Amino acid sequence: MTTVYNFSAGPAVLPKEVLQQAAAEMLDWHGSGMSVMEMSHRGPEFISIYRAAERDLRELLAVPDNYRILFMQGGGLSMNAVIPMNLVGRKGPDATIDFIESGSWSGKSIREAARYAKVNVAASGQAGKFTGVPSQSEWRLTPDAAYLHLCTNETIDGVEIDFVPDVPAGVPVVADMSSHILSRQVDVSKYGLIFGGAQKNIGPAGVTVVIVRDDLIGHALPVCPSAFDFRNVADNESMYNTPPTYGIYIAGLVFQWLKQQGGVAALEQRNIDKARLLYAALDADDFYQNRVAPAYRSRMNIPFYLRDESNNEAFLAGAKARGLLQLKGHKSVGGMRASIYNAMPIEGVQALVDYLNEFAGR
Ligand code: PMP
Repeated sequence: MTTVYNFSAGPAVLPKEVLQQAAAEMLDWHGSGMSVMEMSHRGPEFISIYRAAERDLRELLAVPDNYRILFMQGGGLSMNAVIPMNLVGRKGPDATIDFIESGSWSGKSIREAARYAKVNVAASGQAGKFTGVPSQSEWRLTPDAAYLHLCTNETIDGVEIDFVPDVPAGVPVVADMSSHILSRQVDVSKYGLIFGGAQKNIGPAGVTVVIVRDDLIGHALPVCPSAFDFRNVADNESMYNTPPTYGIYIAGLVFQWLKQQGGVAALEQRNIDKARLLYAALDADDFYQNRVAPAYRSRMNIPFYLRDESNNEAFLAGAKARGLLQLKGHKSVGGMRASIYNAMPIEGVQALVDYLNEFAGR
């Protein structure tokens, strides 16, 4: 098999060791005679898989005891409705949700939340074409907002917010970390809720991780579907309805892999090195261009444009011939994008850098 490097934004590359272990255990998990896919979610085998995954994720992110980890379904987009339905009830029918609009995904969150509550866009990076966000002194925050929502890594725009915002006392911060969860250390205690679809840094599509502080559970609006009421999910160890069992199993293997690699701190250092290598090649001259302000450049999703866009097809064809896959940018913004999640080895980034230099005739 030829070596390929998959730069897809998601579903995305997974650690080879994880896929090999899953393959070895496919027909017979630990002598059970069954595939994980065939197990009852209520049986002792799957319960042990679930609890190990929960425990390992808690350890990796140092999740405090007063937070619950929920393995849900529906993806990041469903959370744009599920979170308002669960959180605004705490503040009553006139509650306002504050948003920071930093790119495409926070924009989608704003439009969906507006169906359930008043929304206030406290700051937007739109005027700067989503190359960063206005400085915090310019944010117009609501003093008693139900919560402040931000997307800490915009997968399409390549904008990463690496600080925890200052918010009025008592306002929970809700963060969509879909595309950079577990790539860097975070202080979970500074957030009310963190969520993310699994298909980038956690595992296969179909699992949605929610980390939520205890006091934010139990306020669901009557309209909230019971399977998405955090109270029901938390009280039933994510098994109020049948959870995405196989996805949780693979996520658990990824968590074990992360621990073997030295945990999030070790991965963060690797991610810094990988991103530095790639940005340096893009910045070497004006053949390529990443337009994001340096302070907001994502370590995970790196969009770039060729100076002469008539070369786009040739660039992609040459990349494919070298086993460098899925580099085409999101259709809404065009250009190219390299997603370099935890499971992308530095060798993959180096292979891309070599090709960037070759194609630019350097
Ligand atoms: N938020 C972010 C930051 C994302 O990158 C994505 C998916 N690319 C979503 C939300 C939507 O996730 P899903 O497709 O799982 O609903």
